[in-house]
Amino acid sequence: MSKQSKQTAISPCRADDYPEWYQQVIKASDLAERSSVRGCMVIKPWGYGLWENIMRVMDSLFKTTGVKNAYFPLFIPLSFLEKEAEHVEGFAKECAVVSHHRLEKGPEGNLVPAGPLTEPLIVRPTSETIIGDSFAKWITSYRDLPLLINQWANVVRWEMRTRIFLRTSEFLWQEGHTAHATREEAEERTRLMLDIYAQTAEEYLAMPVIKGHKTPSERFPGAVDTLSVEAMMQDYKALQSGTSHFLGQNFAKASQITYQTAAESEEYVWTTSWGSSTRLIGGVIMTHGDDNGIILPPKIAPSQVVLLPIIRKPKERDAVMHYTESLAQELKSINYHGHAIQVEIDNRDIGGARGWDWIKKGIPLRVEIGPRDIDAESVYIGRRDKDPKDRQSISRNQFVRELTTVLDDIQISLFERALALRKAHTQHIDDKRQFIDFFTPRNQEKPEIHGGFAYSHWCGAETCEAQIKNDLKVTIRCIPIEADQEKGTCIYCNQPSTQRVVYAKAY
Ligand SMILES: [Zn+2]
Repeated sequence: MSKQSKQTAISPCRADDYPEWYQQVIKASDLAERSSVRGCMVIKPWGYGLWENIMRVMDSLFKTTGVKNAYFPLFIPLSFLEKEAEHVEGFAKECAVVSHHRLEKGPEGNLVPAGPLTEPLIVRPTSETIIGDSFAKWITSYRDLPLLINQWANVVRWEMRTRIFLRTSEFLWQEGHTAHATREEAEERTRLMLDIYAQTAEEYLAMPVIKGHKTPSERFPGAVDTLSVEAMMQDYKALQSGTSHFLGQNFAKASQITYQTAAESEEYVWTTSWGSSTRLIGGVIMTHGDDNGIILPPKIAPSQVVLLPIIRKPKERDAVMHYTESLAQELKSINYHGHAIQVEIDNRDIGGARGWDWIKKGIPLRVEIGPRDIDAESVYIGRRDKDPKDRQSISRNQFVRELTTVLDDIQISLFERALALRKAHTQHIDDKRQFIDFFTPRNQEKPEIHGGFAYSHWCGAETCEAQIKNDLKVTIRCIPIEADQEKGTCIYCNQPSTQRVVYAKAY
C-alpha cells in the first residue's frame, strides 16, 4: 500500500500487523476487554448481545433435533476425571484445582486457604465425566434412549498465553452430550451436530467452513473420532469453529452407563459430545472485520440499525426526534428472520464521532436523519459492508419497504466475500518444494502472512504429520468429508495416500 493510503479507524491496519489489529478492533468495537483476573475476559454488552444471538440460533437448531437443555455442576471430583485415562491426560496440564474450602487468618494477619478437601475438585474443563455420572443414573432401559442433552455453561482451561475470544482461561460455550443404543445412531448424531455447526457458521455468521475428520493426534482426548468445522481467517490461518465427537463406548465404560436391551441383555451405551464457544466471536471478527472495525452479519448483530438524529439548532430538536422515534417504532414492527428488527437511537451530542463509533462496532446500517431529510420524507443511509463515504439518500418508505432485503444482501455479500478469500488462498499442491514455499512467510517481519490452505496428500503416519508441524507450524486441519478418494503420494514422504487433507496454520 502507498504512503498515501487512506485514513482508517483502526490502527494498525490488517496488512501492517494483523494480531495487533485484532486487539485494537476488539477495543474499538467495545465487544470485550481483558479482566484484572489473569487470562480472563470481560464480555461487554455489545459482545454479549452478539453471543446471545449466536446462542439463540444454535439453541433453536439443537432443539429441532430433539435436544433438551440441562445444567450440571461446575466442580468435578478428581476421581471422575481419572476414570478415562486418555481424557485426564489430555486435560491435566490446564486444570484449575480447588483444594481448600475456607479462608483463615494466617500468622501475619493475611487470609490463607484452610480446610483442605479430602478429594480435590477440578473446575470443569469439559463435562463428559460429571454428565456421565448422571447418565448412569438416568439410563436403565433401551426405552430411555436416545438421551439428548445440552448445557450452556462456562468452562476453565488454564491457558498460559491468552487472546480475547480465541484463547482465554475461562470461556462460555455449549456442550452437548448424547447416549444411544447403537454405534450407528451415535455416529449419525455426531455428524448431525457437525452439520448444525456448519449451518450456524455459514447461514448466520456468514463464515464458510470445511467439514472434516480430525487426525488421531488432533482428536478430543478419549474420543474415537472427532469431526470439526474449519474456517479461513483473513490472515489465511484456520480457526476451528466447532467440534463433534463420537466417543464410542469409552465414556460409557468409564462411567458405567449401561442399559437393558429389549431382549433383556445388559449393554453399554454409545455416546457423543459436541461443543462450540465464544471463540466464534473471534471468528466473526477475523472473517469480516476491516480497517475500520468489525462488520457484523445482520442475522446475529445485536442491533441491525442505528438512527442518528442530526440536530444543529435547538429549535430543530423536537421535529427531528419525533421523526426518528416514529421511524424506530415502525422498524421495530418489521419481522426479520423470525425476530423483530433491533434499532438503536444515538442522540449523543458528539458530532461526527457518533457515526464512526457505529462503524467500528460493525452495525449493519447507519441512518442519518436531519431537518432536510424530514422535509423530503427521506433518510440518509450507510451500509457497513460498503465504504464509509458511500452513503445515499432514499425515501423513508422505500427504506422501510426494502430494509430486510438490504440486510439479507449485506449478509450474503459478507459470506461471498469470505468465500472468495478462501478460494483465492487455497491450492491443490503436489510438489514438496512448492508446499514448503506456500507456508513460508513472504516477509520475515510478518511471519503470519503465508499462502493459506493447501489440499495435499498425507500418508496417514503420525510421524510425518508431526514433522510437518515441527518444520512449518502447519497442521492437518481436517480430512474433508466432502472430498473424493484419490490416489496420490504423501506431500512430505512420498508414501502412498488415498485422500487429500487440508493443511494450514491455525489458531
Ligand atoms: Zn508421509
